[in-house]
Amino acid sequence: MSVIYDRIALIGLGLIAGSMSLAIRRGGLAGEVVGYARSHATRATAREIGLCDRIEDTAAAAVEGADLVVLCVPVGVMGDVAVEIAPNLKPGATVSDVGSVKRAVIDAVAPHLPENVHFVPAHPLAGTEHSGPRSGFATLFDNRWCLIVPQEGADRAAVDRLEALWRGIGAQTDEMEADHHDLVLAVTSHTPHLIAYTMVGVADDLRRVTDSEVIKYSAAGFRDFTRIAASDPTMWRDVFLNNREATLEILGRFTEELFALQRAIRKGDGDHLHAYFTRTRAIRRGIIEAGQDTDAPDFGRARSG
Ligand code: NAP
Repeated sequence: MSVIYDRIALIGLGLIAGSMSLAIRRGGLAGEVVGYARSHATRATAREIGLCDRIEDTAAAAVEGADLVVLCVPVGVMGDVAVEIAPNLKPGATVSDVGSVKRAVIDAVAPHLPENVHFVPAHPLAGTEHSGPRSGFATLFDNRWCLIVPQEGADRAAVDRLEALWRGIGAQTDEMEADHHDLVLAVTSHTPHLIAYTMVGVADDLRRVTDSEVIKYSAAGFRDFTRIAASDPTMWRDVFLNNREATLEILGRFTEELFALQRAIRKGDGDHLHAYFTRTRAIRRGIIEAGQDTDAPDFGRARSG
């Protein structure tokens, strides 16, 4: 593959930035990948494992001369980082992000960027429950989706170039409007995470079942919940605070369905339960057929999320 950007700066060096850097270098997609993270410890680890070609001690130095800057920090601090880097952005550069929520990030970042840069938000739909600079791996985005969320009047060439980068990284790309993105993700990711957090919390609170029993006898259902519920607390706090409306809408619907199932169980309405589970099983088949998960008993999830 050929170089798509001469210099790419990644701000935040966790799972997503680390995986991007490794995949960009795997594909030879950039002349140089420069990184910056907030803490000295993360920068030291990134240097030690050679995560990027160069690690800088300030965000301003990292973005200097970069053709693409990708914000890979928690959603709640995207705006602060935009303020920090704005004066040092190269004219004509593209600024993107990988935040799990789009409308709030756009509102937080866009007002701070100079007019002579292109802002093209994006969200790769891939992750694991691990975080930090050692958690990245080059294949994380292979065959997964990356949603590109161009703003009105966006420069077509800048959008196409970012999409080419994500395809070079291994992902498939689609374009989506920000509010619709937030609703789709509330259904497919955000609400399921909240449910997993809740179920693990319930098991923890239920003193009639000891912690050791929960761990020892955790069957696939609960084990999958614990994996999701081990996800980074800062990232997920920020997701819910910043995708409030869509998450609350889906949670409202979820609660209604849950009550309906609860009622069916109480009334012994097996037909209702069977019909419901038949419908949901078809959705699982659709996900496997679309190549977004495997049929392996452990869901093949050690390396995907
Ligand atoms: P992560 O592994 O926890 O890494 C976050 C990075 O951001 C760390 O390097 C952290 O630095 C840095 N950081 C935090 N606050 C900062 C600040 N104020 N200024 C500069 N750097 C700061 O997180 P991640 O999983 O890569 O997630 C990053 C972004 O990707 C989030 O917006 C998330 O919503 C999105 N995303 C995540 C997933 C997923 O499944 N994990 C999937 C798709 C998108 P320190 O280590 O020094 O604190």
